[in-house]
Order: sequence, then C-alpha cells, then structure tokens
Amino acid sequence: MKRRYNSYHDYMKEKFGCRVNKVSVDMGFTCPNRDGSLARGGCVYCNNDSFVPPYARARYSMHDQLTDGMDYIRKRFKAEKFIVYFQAYTNTYGDARELENMYREALSYDGVVGIAVGTRSDCVDEEKIEIFERLAKECYVSLEYGIESVYDKSLEFMNRGHDYGSVLRAFEMSRGRGFELGAHIILGLPTETREEMLAMADEVSSLPINCIKIHNLHIVKGTPLARMYMVAPFELFGYEEYLDFIVRFLEKLSPDIIVERFFTDTPRSLLIAPGWDRSHIEVIKGIEEELEKRDTCQGRLYAGAAHGRIAG
Ligand code: SF4
Repeated sequence: MKRRYNSYHDYMKEKFGCRVNKVSVDMGFTCPNRDGSLARGGCVYCNNDSFVPPYARARYSMHDQLTDGMDYIRKRFKAEKFIVYFQAYTNTYGDARELENMYREALSYDGVVGIAVGTRSDCVDEEKIEIFERLAKECYVSLEYGIESVYDKSLEFMNRGHDYGSVLRAFEMSRGRGFELGAHIILGLPTETREEMLAMADEVSSLPINCIKIHNLHIVKGTPLARMYMVAPFELFGYEEYLDFIVRFLEKLSPDIIVERFFTDTPRSLLIAPGWDRSHIEVIKGIEEELEKRDTCQGRLYAGAAHGRIAG
C-alpha cells in the first residue's frame, strides 16, 4: 500500500534499487558554539551522545567506525548499500582541503554510494560548497543544515549563535549546485505557540530542500536545557497531542519534501522528558494510523511555494 507521506526509505530504495542505510561517523569535529568562537556550552538541547550510535565515536578510526557500523546495519536492517553520515557536531567546520580528503576517504569503501553531511548555516562558504558540487558529479551527496527554528526568538533561546537570515543565505548559496539539501527542525520549543510551530511547515516548504528531519523537543541529560527544565518545567508534546500535531504539520508540508524523521529518539538512559514509553516502530505506526484514520496525507493543505517567508 502506498504511504500517505513521502518516505525517505522508499525514496532511497527507488533511487538505488536496493535497501540503503546511513552509517554514522564521528570524525572528532567540534562546533563554533562549543569551542568559544561563538559561544561555549553549545545549543541548550545538545548532547551528541543522545543521537550518535555507539559504533561512531571519534576515538575510533574512520575505518573501524565504518566497518563496525556497516556490519551492524547489514545484520540489523539487511542494508545493501550505505550513505556515510558525517553526523556528530559540525562536519564542515575545518580546512576545505582536509574536508574533501576525508569525504573522499569515506567514499572509497565498498558498498558506499554517497555521503550526507550535517552542518550549521554559518559554517559553509563558496569553497566548501564547491567541494560538494564536485563530489555530487561522482556520487550521491546530501548537505543537511540544522535550521531548528525559523524564529529568531527561538534561535536566541537555544543559543544557536546564528539567526534565521543565516539559514536563508546558506540555502541561497547551496541551491541548484547538484547535491541534495536537507533540514532539521525542532517542534515543541517553549518560545513558540502551537500555531507558530505549524506555520513552520509553510516556511520550510518554501526552502529549496529535498528532505526534512523533524524532531520533537526532548530534554536530554547533561544539557543546559535539562538544568533549565529542572528549575522551571514547561509543557512538552504528549504522545496523543503529537500525533494530532504532526499529522496537521504533514498536511501543510510540501508533498515534494521527503520526510526522513518525524520525531526524536533518545536513549532512555539519557532522556528526562517526555516519557512516551513507546518504541520507534510504535510511534511510526501511530502516525501512519492517524493519517489513515483521518483519510489525509502529506501536502493535502499545502499552501504553495510562494507561501511562507517568516521574517525571523
Ligand atoms: S547542536 Fe550542533 S551547533 Fe549546536 S552545540 Fe550541538 S553540535 Fe554544536
């Protein structure tokens, strides 16, 4: 049965003709929000241990991370091909020549068909974009920007160290260069109303993105946000409310955008809140059932590309 949303796994399968999974690497980057260039302490929600898998640790070489990671993913998900995912921290925050060598090294492994690179909008420039443009002539390339929010008040609250204008400039520089563009957003920040969060669907639909990862806000141990939450707790999405909200969000999202993620997964040992007590598969199933129950789909209420343009 056809899905009611534009699924990343289906897209990859169609593109490569087989099961393709991401395999993460941590190449020991930091980010300007941690090393003092912009700030120290990082974005308030950030604990990289909460999303980087255990095989991807900077203390291991790229070779060890990739061979262990691919072996694990082959067995667990029956993957046949891989996208190397430069995931932890800011993976364009370094010397351009060294970055290109590192991406090319990843591409030299058997079974690797491309790379995905996670970064910040203020850590790219023309020289780095040209690297991705060159590589995209040889293989699959996706550049993923952490947008997080389209509202400057929220970016300030998160201590992101950049505004939404920076995100728009990065997309302008990156669009039409032959590689795919991805975006990460967070839903549930205490600085935004539910209506403002919903309006983000219009705004991100107006960006030149191929793919989106949607995260519901999690309070993760060891983060500044955890300390804030302990002192003054605020409302987070409950499970039922999120099912309703994400369906409404998907309805407004452009049907052309591939959805790679609908919600956050944090290991239980690191999660403070919310406590949904459901597995990844159960939540996906819950969203699919909700779409089915309402007989709706991604893009049903899409306002069109000209809509959006929230001014920070
Ligand atoms: S979310 Fe990204 S930019 Fe923010 S502190 Fe973490 S690694 Fe740095």
